[in-house]
Amino acid sequence: MIPIAKPLIGEEEIKAVTDVLRSGIIAEGQKVKDFEAAFADHTGTSHAVAVNSGTAALHVALMAHNIGAGDEVITTPFSFVATSNSVLFTGAKPVFADIYENTFNIDPESIIEKITPKTKAIIPVHLYGQAADMKAIMEIADDHDLIIIEDACQAHGATYDGKKVGSFGTGTFSFYPTKNMTTGEGGIITTNEKTVAERAKMIRSHGSRVRYFHEMLGYNLRMTDIAAAIGLVQLKKLDNFNNARISNANALSSKLNKMTGFILPGIDKRCRHVFHQYTVRVNSSTISRDEMVSYLGKKGIGTGIYYPLPIHKQPYYKEIGFNDSLPVCEKAASEVFSLPVHPGINKADLDTIIKVMGEL
Ligand SMILES: *Cc1c(COP(=O)(O)O)cnc(C)c1O
Repeated sequence: MIPIAKPLIGEEEIKAVTDVLRSGIIAEGQKVKDFEAAFADHTGTSHAVAVNSGTAALHVALMAHNIGAGDEVITTPFSFVATSNSVLFTGAKPVFADIYENTFNIDPESIIEKITPKTKAIIPVHLYGQAADMKAIMEIADDHDLIIIEDACQAHGATYDGKKVGSFGTGTFSFYPTKNMTTGEGGIITTNEKTVAERAKMIRSHGSRVRYFHEMLGYNLRMTDIAAAIGLVQLKKLDNFNNARISNANALSSKLNKMTGFILPGIDKRCRHVFHQYTVRVNSSTISRDEMVSYLGKKGIGTGIYYPLPIHKQPYYKEIGFNDSLPVCEKAASEVFSLPVHPGINKADLDTIIKVMGEL
């Protein structure tokens, strides 16, 4: 089986972890500080604050910007549920905008339609590793005085107009094992605003700057030095990992573009797409998406559907009153599936994928 995702952990990561274990300092310590500095440098921001998941990064970023009850946050329903759950956890209300048909990213025209006097922030998601339409989104933010929190949990190292994602507004990243780099579980917030970084550091540690003095409401969302040690090694490998993803994606596209029945990933020329996922859209009249996925599975090719049910259609969201109609997103959810392009696959795997896709 060619898996849809696989973390690449080498001897260097194993040594880094055992060194931390032997040091005796295993919770948040110097490794976390070093990882934050290295990640901020890679992203091109002046600050980074490490936490224990991408979900925590989103939640802390929202809290650091004082977003809460009474506020509305516009985001995309074509994402992992963490994007909007983090909004709900602050007491604010997620408001869903529709997406572009070709890139699957949030549509700025739809954002404008959803703005009300309560709108406080926008969370664009750089889905599958490709930046959202940041030029249009930053203009909307400027015009309406809105905060931008980027969900870059799938887009480590991606750029838009040559600028790294996570450096347009306040960035949030995940280091879950399937992501472009991993720390086991983990996340990080990137920002150029000193006060946002300071507040984020307090929120991740029960609202305290000085131990046992609590200035605001916080929680324990800290990253461990064990995780940060893995992150430091993985970050050094990130550019090579991404280059392999891009090269694998190009290899697939150069052959699959001759076949019918599906539409290849749409690429915005302003973006360096780092292919967290290589996602095609099925438009065949003879075979359904689910039949394609099941055939590929039988032939040993792992696939993923990201995401089969948009967030506004999830049972919990329906229960709390969401009943939007977002046709472009809903159509995408019924047509997409992803093929493996992660750095753990080789030329033979790519040939197998191309051969089996040709049999469809
Ligand atoms: C993975 C992911 C998250 C959440 O990250 P965790 O580390 O799993 O908490 C949030 N948003 C998107 C788009 C993701 O892909």
